[in-house]
Amino acid sequence: MASLETLNDAIVRCRRCPRLVRWREAVAKKPPLRYRGQSYWARPLPGFGDPEARVLIVGLAPAAHGGNRTGRIFTGDRSGDWLYTTLYKFRFSSLPGSLHKDDGLKLTDCYISAAARCAPPDNKPLPAEFDRCRPYLISELQLLSRVRVVVALGKIAFDEFLKAYAENGGVIPKPRPRFGHGSSARLDGVTLLGSYHPSQQNTFTGKLTRPMFESVFRAARAALERDERSRR
Ligand code: SF4
Repeated sequence: MASLETLNDAIVRCRRCPRLVRWREAVAKKPPLRYRGQSYWARPLPGFGDPEARVLIVGLAPAAHGGNRTGRIFTGDRSGDWLYTTLYKFRFSSLPGSLHKDDGLKLTDCYISAAARCAPPDNKPLPAEFDRCRPYLISELQLLSRVRVVVALGKIAFDEFLKAYAENGGVIPKPRPRFGHGSSARLDGVTLLGSYHPSQQNTFTGKLTRPMFESVFRAARAALERDERSRR
């Protein structure tokens, strides 16, 4: 793929997963009361952020009434509120929240992607759907050549990233890195950080707190600084 722009054009036109195509379009036709009258994106979500990013964030999949509604990854739902507030705090985002595609928000040194690009029923893509979508993540790894830190949001995103990394020719260390909140693994030239996903299931129950989430991005900043020092 020649550029992120070309890749993102291909992603938004993708219809490889019939179940997800049906679902993303069906939920758009029957929005909950609070979104009634809004025009939904109802297509796959491209990655979003800085093409020169050194930090890549990998999420799971868009939410039916979040990204699938607004057309920008992690935008329009509470998970996104958590993520962008934190990115703002750590100077990766120009705004403390992402409201809609045209709000002027810019990411610096950070790019957000996902293991699957279409909203799935019950927030659960099937293994075959991840397999079909993984080539897009692999293309991003090839195009985002400055990435030094990857933050995987949740175990599934963590494992999907490792698959993409290996399929792209990366060597997975032994023992294989294991997901945990705050886990850190050194791959060849890349630090892989694990974080619980900022889903309502985790944030409402206190499984993931603000300080816990912020500690991951503090670790990302520290890893970038270490990387800079090692290159001097
Ligand atoms: S999940 Fe990925 S591969 Fe499947 S239809 Fe959406 S964009 Fe295409």
